[in-house]
Amino acid sequence: MTKKTIALIAHDGKKEALVKFVETHRQWFEQFHLVGTGTTGARIEEKGISIEKLASGPLGGDAQIAARITEGLVHAVIFYRDPMGKHPHEPDINMLLRQCDVHNIPLATNQASASLLVGQYAFNAQ
Ligand code: PGA
Repeated sequence: MTKKTIALIAHDGKKEALVKFVETHRQWFEQFHLVGTGTTGARIEEKGISIEKLASGPLGGDAQIAARITEGLVHAVIFYRDPMGKHPHEPDINMLLRQCDVHNIPLATNQASASLLVGQYAFNAQ
């Protein structure tokens, strides 16, 4: 059986927090196929955690993840957004958030909701 997939994305101001979060919950995350935007994925990979890296966010990585959601290939999204920053790829980000809602995909946009997802969201990794 193929593993379910979790997408990981963090804006620059939140990358360190997401990497720490993934490390803290490493065992849980390692049950899944992980996919991330380019820079976020590279930061997670540096910790020895296997992750598929897509394009960097501003170059279309969020749009790639949105498309995978549409295709039924992503089952949860953790997206640490920086509410203080402006982002040139805002339309892609909105598309990703919308695709989560269209397809009823759990979406955590900060550490509190990510903790709920890791602790409470009961789905099998397989
Ligand atoms: P990045 O993209 O991981 O390549 O920095 C994230 C984003 O800004 O959406």
